[in-house]
Amino acid sequence: MKFETLWRPDTCGCEIIYEWDDSEPESSRTHRLKRVVSTCDNHKGVSPDTLFDMVLEENRRKNLALSLAQSLVHTIKLENYSWRFDSNRVLIVEFSGLTASEMKDLQSSCNINLGAGKVIVR
Ligand SMILES: [Zn+2]
Repeated sequence: MKFETLWRPDTCGCEIIYEWDDSEPESSRTHRLKRVVSTCDNHKGVSPDTLFDMVLEENRRKNLALSLAQSLVHTIKLENYSWRFDSNRVLIVEFSGLTASEMKDLQSSCNINLGAGKVIVR
């Protein structure tokens, strides 16, 4: 059965309705764009499909940065994590309690896993 979900990502102000099917296994379930309800200033002027891809990528990048930090330092929790996007949609991340060498390792891991220049560890 097909469902529609209104998504308000925490990474920008866009509002997107996507469609998914509960007959697909959760691990490989795809979210198909149904409709862009509203577009934030950061994602103005792009086609709906491109917008959906961009918003998904940014949201995953923000979540993956936390996972990468947690795989390096197991004591890192969500409350240690703060992040924002700069005007070029580069993700700026800060983790409380990381040493300088852990920050360096995390920066390398982000460059390898998320792409060079996509994430800056502060
Ligand atoms: Zn947006």
